[in-house]
Amino acid sequence: MQQAEQILHQYFGYQTFRHVQKQVIENVLHKKDTLCVMPTGGGKSLCYQIPALVRDGLTIVISPLISLMKDQVDMLRANGIHSAFINSTLTFSEVDAIMEQVRMNAIKLLYIAPERLENQSFCTELAQLNVSLIAIDEAHCISQWGHDFRPSYRSIQKIFTLWPKKPTVIALTATATPNVREDICNLLQIDSDSVFVSGFNRDNLSFKVLVGENKDQYIKQYIKNNPQEAGIIYAATRKSVEALHAMLLQKGVAVAKYHGGMYEEDRNYEQNRFLNDEAQVMVATNAFGMGINKTNVRFVIHYQMPRNIESYYQEAGRAGRDGVESECILLYSSSDEQTHRFLIDQSQDPTRIPIELQKLQQMIDYCHTEKCLQSYMVNYFGEQEIQDCGKCGNCADERPKQDVTEDAQKVLSCVIRMGQTYGKTLTSQVLAGARNKKVEAFQHLSTYGILKPLSAKAVANFIDFLISERLLLVKAGQYPTIFVSQEGKEVLLGKKSVFRRTIVEKTVEKIQND
Ligand code: ADP
Repeated sequence: MQQAEQILHQYFGYQTFRHVQKQVIENVLHKKDTLCVMPTGGGKSLCYQIPALVRDGLTIVISPLISLMKDQVDMLRANGIHSAFINSTLTFSEVDAIMEQVRMNAIKLLYIAPERLENQSFCTELAQLNVSLIAIDEAHCISQWGHDFRPSYRSIQKIFTLWPKKPTVIALTATATPNVREDICNLLQIDSDSVFVSGFNRDNLSFKVLVGENKDQYIKQYIKNNPQEAGIIYAATRKSVEALHAMLLQKGVAVAKYHGGMYEEDRNYEQNRFLNDEAQVMVATNAFGMGINKTNVRFVIHYQMPRNIESYYQEAGRAGRDGVESECILLYSSSDEQTHRFLIDQSQDPTRIPIELQKLQQMIDYCHTEKCLQSYMVNYFGEQEIQDCGKCGNCADERPKQDVTEDAQKVLSCVIRMGQTYGKTLTSQVLAGARNKKVEAFQHLSTYGILKPLSAKAVANFIDFLISERLLLVKAGQYPTIFVSQEGKEVLLGKKSVFRRTIVEKTVEKIQND
């Protein structure tokens, strides 16, 4: 380990290890296959680059991001570390020249794209080399449960048997939820005590979810109150980017825009205006942000809810890179959910639909939970429990909690009476006593109209809260249905109480303004 620390100072110029870097490196140096989960920017690269230098032989780094390979290699070379990459941007003779250097042991780290492993003759060449370590970057791509499954990642396991002795394997990712982690560990045979997760807690960020806010009004006011601060507003569609951009321009805000429908030249121009602080606000779709390094972003506002927590964490996490207090605000409206369901339904790979729907549900839960939002996020990524952050919208909410057990029982018993085979919308219409053709069949139920005079929308919001509390569960599908969980049954039996800050009437009022 001493040698590892020396390399940290000598080659990389850093004083101390960060997060779990030290534990990860130690584990790898003990030749244990390891999984390292840290957010983007957390410092994963050192976790394989340092062992690569400590150990004899070659380290192969498998990475799907061709554009980032060159940056990594340039950076390593600038630090005096012999490294190279092979990908489709190189000619045959360039690849040959690199392989010649590799054979002569003149390279310590070789970056390759996973597709390269499908090439038999390349694998035959690899088998001749002294490979001590295989680093698998973006390791979630190996899992069907990940948000970015890549079939080429399945070729990785095959190479483990190329050598008489399997090299040590280190898998790295920023986005592995517990499911994905388990999958990675199963596929790569990593022991559970060799999994290290850290760095998801961003304690300079305060998260907030606003339900039923007049979004445009809110944004105009927010920028007026924070005239000096740089920020990003993410919108789901090109159309809403254009509309928001026009709205802010009209208000005299120095605003830039970025979406996939613009010419590259215009996109770059707008991006640079934001990076150089000429534009205070960037309005963009999620196409904006990859590889952008602007540290003084003070706020990230989401005009619509993203489709999963991974995307939200990544986009919101562009705030406060310099460690200064910053805000991440999500403007939620229930119609966002329908849009995502529609898009997921249209998804090209039908086998992914249930997974995407589950992820969407966890995103919706985030928008309705009254627990600490920072903790919700950290738990989602499978890092150990942290203390409540004390400053997110929920922690800072001083409204007293009300006992809503009775209302919860009304909802739960209605769900049971309806046979637990219907969705949120119909159930809330029944509870609110709505009159339409679909509801007619349920008018005889004793729970029909039992939550009148609330609007069906307010009841739906309350149901979302009960789902986030796991009292109701969602059966995913094209038409998701809700059913009562074991915990929900305890509420029905009076064995458990339910508390909520948002009183339902307040929600009604706010939603009517939506
Ligand atoms: P990731 O791969 O997790 O996205 P990187 O490995 O690219 O993150 O690291 C992000 C930044 O943090 C880089 O600029 C890197 O040099 C820096 N960094 C990594 N480890 C340390 C450390 N122990 N001390 C200081 N800076 C570090």
